[in-house]
Amino acid sequence: MSDQILLSGNLQEVTKKALVWLLNKKPIKELRDWGTAFSLWPPHFTTSCCGAEFGAFSAARFDGERYGMLPFSSSRQSNILVIEGTMTRKMARAARIVYEQMPEPKYVMAIGACSLEGGIFWNSYNTVLPSEVGIPVDIYVPGCPIRPEAIARGLLTLQKRIMGHDSIKM
Ligand code: SF4
Repeated sequence: MSDQILLSGNLQEVTKKALVWLLNKKPIKELRDWGTAFSLWPPHFTTSCCGAEFGAFSAARFDGERYGMLPFSSSRQSNILVIEGTMTRKMARAARIVYEQMPEPKYVMAIGACSLEGGIFWNSYNTVLPSEVGIPVDIYVPGCPIRPEAIARGLLTLQKRIMGHDSIKM
C-alpha cells in the first residue's frame, strides 16, 4: 500500500473548522483580538441627538481615531454599530439591516439614556430599544446627553473585553 492519504467527507466544512480552531489558538487569537480591539470601525449611522456627542468624540478635541475607531462609509467593512440614543421604529429597520450587513466579529455600543430604557421618550408609541429589534448590545454607556469622555470610557471597556474573552463566530 502506498502512503497516500485518503480524504473523505466534506472538505470545505473540515477546512472551515480547522481555520476556526487555528484562529482560536494562542498566540494567533491574542494577535487577532488585539487587531480587532484597535480597529473598531463604525458605519456612519446616526439615530438621534446623541449622534452630535459622538461627532464631538470623533472631532479634534477628543480625537476618537486615536483609539482606532474610524467611522467608515460602508457597513460591510464595519465591525461596531453605535446606537446613538433614541431609535424610532422607522430607524430601527435601517439599523437592523446595517447590523446584518456587518461581518463577524461585530459589536454594538448603545449610548445615551434613550437607548438604555427609553430616556425622555420612554412612553412614546414610536420608539424601540435595540433589544426589541434583535440588535444585541455589547456595551451600554448612560447619560443624557452623553459626554465624549464617557464614550471613550465605554470604548476602552469594550476593547478590554475583546482582548480578554472574545472568540470568533463563523
Ligand atoms: S439620551 Fe438625551 S441626548 Fe441622547 S438621544 Fe436621548 S434625549 Fe437625546
